[in-house]
Amino acid sequence: MKNFIPDEVIEEVRQNCDIVQVVSEYVLLTRKGHNYFGLCPFHGEKTPSFSVSPDKQIFYCFGCGVGGNVFSFLMQKEGMEFPEAVKLLADKVGVEIPEGEVDSEYDQKKSALKKAHEINNLTKEFYHYILLNLKVGELAREYLKKRGLSPEVIDKFQLGYAPNSWDGLLNFLTKKNNVEDDLVKQGLILSRNEGQGFYDRFRHRLMFPIWDVKGNVIGFGGRVLDKGEPKYLNSPESFVYNKRENLFGIHLAVKAIREQDRVLIAEGYLDVITAHQFGFENVVASLGTALTKEQIKLLMRYTHNIIVAFDADGAGVKATLRSIDLLQNFGCKVKILTIPNGKDPDEYIRKKGPIAFKKLIEQAKSLVDYKLDKALEKYGSDTPEAKARVVEALSETLLNISNEVEKEMYLKKTAETLGLQLETIIAELKKQQQKGTKHWKYRDKQTENWNNTNMDNAKSVVIREKNQSARSKAEKFLLRLVIEEPNLWLQAKSKMGISFFDSPERNQIAKVIDALCIKEKNFEIADIFSYLKDSNSNKVLNQILAQEVPLENLEESFYDCLLVIEREIKKESKDSILRKISEAEQKGDFEQVRFLMKELKQFH
Ligand SMILES: [Zn+2]
Repeated sequence: MKNFIPDEVIEEVRQNCDIVQVVSEYVLLTRKGHNYFGLCPFHGEKTPSFSVSPDKQIFYCFGCGVGGNVFSFLMQKEGMEFPEAVKLLADKVGVEIPEGEVDSEYDQKKSALKKAHEINNLTKEFYHYILLNLKVGELAREYLKKRGLSPEVIDKFQLGYAPNSWDGLLNFLTKKNNVEDDLVKQGLILSRNEGQGFYDRFRHRLMFPIWDVKGNVIGFGGRVLDKGEPKYLNSPESFVYNKRENLFGIHLAVKAIREQDRVLIAEGYLDVITAHQFGFENVVASLGTALTKEQIKLLMRYTHNIIVAFDADGAGVKATLRSIDLLQNFGCKVKILTIPNGKDPDEYIRKKGPIAFKKLIEQAKSLVDYKLDKALEKYGSDTPEAKARVVEALSETLLNISNEVEKEMYLKKTAETLGLQLETIIAELKKQQQKGTKHWKYRDKQTENWNNTNMDNAKSVVIREKNQSARSKAEKFLLRLVIEEPNLWLQAKSKMGISFFDSPERNQIAKVIDALCIKEKNFEIADIFSYLKDSNSNKVLNQILAQEVPLENLEESFYDCLLVIEREIKKESKDSILRKISEAEQKGDFEQVRFLMKELKQFH
């Protein structure tokens, strides 16, 4: 892959992107003063230490030290190479990259994706047309009518019908110049066992197109219309469809999730559709799995308030409770919606109406309350033993609450419910905590590793940089100041040259600053990152930028730094000569001693 994209183009792309907007596609950000803050997507945390500066167009995490400009963000978040990240953003902001500069995997990936989306989209239209217009769609139309779905919502979700035919879709798509191979890849057709020809995967089923968050059709769920197995048949996983990473209805729900700052996760496609029909547009469903980390991460871009409406008695409940614990670990507020009599949201809304459903949502329980109810159901609270069991069942959740006020509130509530003293509960929890030490450690480790590949490397640099001498401190601060005020760099350079720094990373950063200064006096901070190709320098730059700049006496601070650096360099040279003198004396090389003494004089 050719990596060469002209500097001007790179800068143009960066200047046309807003880092806040780009990061917002991955992280829920809230404005605080000049900057935006959110939960770091590169390490697990419960309180936001990840910041984005719209003025400087950079991001930085005070927790794990990751940072950079908009390109660095995409590279780390999407695992892209630099040219790929530039290209992706260039596409987004409409900057043209000269032809032939990047003939990359990126282009191939992009065109394969485009093809897959096109095929799935055509398929969606095919099924939808049949459902609405053809005689064979009659049965499916009746089914939807019986379920009470309105024409509007059928259109909104583009529902369809896959005819009871072995080659209906196959013929339609191949006539539109698609090759069978591409259709197999999308799981729409299968090759016959005898190796002769292909046949449609979905036959005589009600079809639910599945979109990604950007609104591309990536797969399908097909429901049987009469008795038959399986009840739901889904597209197989492909390079566009990953059921662990997507949620049904997300593309239609994003707006409402943002506006209401909460999401409701249901289990079934029809739950989502009925909810939307009755005005609950912040509802999505998992795609036939228990809630996954990836889905949680997706939702956390839009809200931290999550209501889970899974069938509490269903098979998935254990796995779901586990993911809910995980949700809490990552700073989400989770509530659990239990629907009376084991109904699903679809049935409940249709039978009881939207007002009742809304009330039910407001009554959704916190995880502690939910677990408390379940434990009481299971163990009762009559005997001391039963009470201990209940506390045990709740201990993990209680200990996991990060907000101390909330924790105390729940502890009190649990104590009251069980008729115990608060101290008794706390003592019992402490016991549980000690018993569970191993478990906690494991859990923390898991949290730490959550989507974090760069940590080890970052840590070693951070440790090295922590043993700061006066010189390295001064050098870093000097770099921070010259970044703020590039004119000062020219002064430093005329006095000391370019590569006077005491670490390869700092020299590298100085070189980039120098190049940018020569090109243009007022370069932007974010551009430095585009020219720093090694990740260690990148990390050091992040630390440098994390330093506060004194607005009042910027120049004074600059001269102080220069003085310290000069003094320290002198001191180091002097120390080195003194060392050499004592070595020469030991060897009895007095000629050398005399020579070195002369050298030493210049330091007085
Ligand atoms: Zn972080």
